[in-house]
Amino acid sequence: MKVPFLDIRIQNEDLQMEIMPAIEQVIQSGAFAGGSFVEQFEKDFADYCGTSHALGVSSGTDALWLTLVARDVGPGDEVITVPSTFMATAEAISKSGARPVFVDIDERTYNMDPEQLEKAITKRTKAIIPVHLCGQPADMDPILAIAAKHGITVVEDACQAHGAEYKGRKAGSLADAGCFSFYPGKNLGAFGEAGAVVTNDEDMFEKIRILRDHGQIRKYHHVMIGWNCRMDGIQGAVLRVKLRHLEERNQRRRLWAAHYDRMLAHCDAVITPSVPPWIQHAYHLYVIRVANRDAMIRGLSERGIGTGIHYPVPVHLQEAYRGLGYCKGSFPCAEKCAEEFISLPMFAELTAAQVHAVADAVSELADSTTVGKSNYPVAVN
Ligand SMILES: *Cc1c(COP(=O)(O)O)cnc(C)c1O
Repeated sequence: MKVPFLDIRIQNEDLQMEIMPAIEQVIQSGAFAGGSFVEQFEKDFADYCGTSHALGVSSGTDALWLTLVARDVGPGDEVITVPSTFMATAEAISKSGARPVFVDIDERTYNMDPEQLEKAITKRTKAIIPVHLCGQPADMDPILAIAAKHGITVVEDACQAHGAEYKGRKAGSLADAGCFSFYPGKNLGAFGEAGAVVTNDEDMFEKIRILRDHGQIRKYHHVMIGWNCRMDGIQGAVLRVKLRHLEERNQRRRLWAAHYDRMLAHCDAVITPSVPPWIQHAYHLYVIRVANRDAMIRGLSERGIGTGIHYPVPVHLQEAYRGLGYCKGSFPCAEKCAEEFISLPMFAELTAAQVHAVADAVSELADSTTVGKSNYPVAVN
């Protein structure tokens, strides 16, 4: 059975009847850059996240960068994040002028390890960006406690975590600001590029509102040097329609994840996601770990099953960051995971038959000797 890793076309086909009239309204009104359709979406998205404000911007990358600029992060400062993320998290730090500092991830949740965080803080640390990788919120309570002790800003990279929850609160609403991407393949995807910042902080809100529109307080009156990071009106209109379906779609993802969990539980060679009970995972990605990842991917591909790797090279080992002075061995857990991760097909519109076909193929391949069990050594103190 053919199972694609992701099929965004089906999702948009289902919603076409609702989306097309929304786009037509934008065309008729002419509110293409920012404007009322973006404002309506912002209101709905802030309500959804449980924050007082949401700001539509041009991408998740810009959302991250804007939060740092709003807190005057710049040259000479350090911002701590994890190496197991998409490049954009670190790029936003570099673009602000600050230096990215990485800390290793927790072996079970693949998110920032709070113990490593504490050790990495220096006088120069200005902000911390935990990443809710795959749609699983990082362990925010200890991270926020450490940040509060040192008076450091915390910005959530929630670009993979639309609708995820940590102890009953939505990802993005837990720290000084939360950043979202609406890249088409995300749980809430636009018809192009878009992103948002959500916050309860009035100062953060006011600054980003001005920064995203060339630092203007009113037309042609510029109080700071900003940039053009506005959201398109069409994206606002499309996202507002799609937001109404996000919860139901995330529930489908959770259902498929539960099927994968159950069907792979007996499989010793496969490590499935470990989700603490206080977390509602958004399953942007369903990631397993196996020792011989390439053999597994090849086997699945021969059976018509698509997979992904998120991400094959941890950020501290990217060529672009050679200058930071990290090397192989700097972050053993992140490096091991980058070798073992496989993302299985995960989207709301999968069918039970497809999910079972994938799980059957994974178990079958895992039982063959070529795949083998992860041998990441548990740290001995
Ligand atoms: C997608 C993503 C981003 C960047 O978002 P864009 O909208 O593509 O700029 C940042 N961080 C993470 C973890 C992401 O998955």
